[in-house]
Amino acid sequence: MTTAKTKSRRKRAPRTFGKEKAAELYAELAKVRPNPKTELDFVNPYTLVVAVALSAQATDVGVNKATKELFKIADSPEKMLALGLEGVEQHVKTIGLWRNKAKNVIALSQMILDEFDGEVPQTREELVRLPGVGRKTANVVLNEAFGQPTIAVDTHIFRVSNRTGLAPGKDPDQVEASLERTTPDEFKLGAHHWLILHGRYTCTARKPKCWDCSIRHLCRFKDKTPDPAKTSSLGPKAPKRKARATKA
Ligand code: SF4
Repeated sequence: MTTAKTKSRRKRAPRTFGKEKAAELYAELAKVRPNPKTELDFVNPYTLVVAVALSAQATDVGVNKATKELFKIADSPEKMLALGLEGVEQHVKTIGLWRNKAKNVIALSQMILDEFDGEVPQTREELVRLPGVGRKTANVVLNEAFGQPTIAVDTHIFRVSNRTGLAPGKDPDQVEASLERTTPDEFKLGAHHWLILHGRYTCTARKPKCWDCSIRHLCRFKDKTPDPAKTSSLGPKAPKRKARATKA
């Protein structure tokens, strides 16, 4: 028999959004950004793979600066291999972990030529075989280049999914599985972009802009940031004391 005591001891699993509420949330995000896109620059599926592989622990702006010239001279695996390791290194030196990333760009270009007839593969299983390409990169490529409804969980999506209660999870894999379950089909293609951009510009890691957030009414985050325009730097004003009546 279950007693009240054992009941209270039981740990509750985190509540996820139902599909109906998740649909409401995505609809709000879609109003703000009707046509969401990646902010990484690319000209074809191959350059997208390279750009995403370069973007680990780097900003999209930094990667775009580096690839602007690189992709003008090397927008295919053949051209990248012709440029060679040193040539690639010269272009990506401004990006973190550039030595390793340049090696991966050369190695993945070689594999695309040798094993996939020069074409970027279109399945996750094949993509993750490419050097420097993990599940997250593969999901971004499948979604952005091939229109598949995958959701790649990066730091922004992880934060937004947990804070809002949309799809809580302890690690990116758990959040991805939770998002897969909760996200209605009609929003799956855009979900990745909507959540990333919301996390990058509104639900930021420090001081999320809750006062200016379109999904505030749906979000379960307890410590919402108050509107700075309505709070002084000294905190809320103390109520004025009533002047004591003096005896005549
Ligand atoms: S209300 Fe705040 S915590 Fe919730 S999603 Fe919006 S910005 Fe993030």
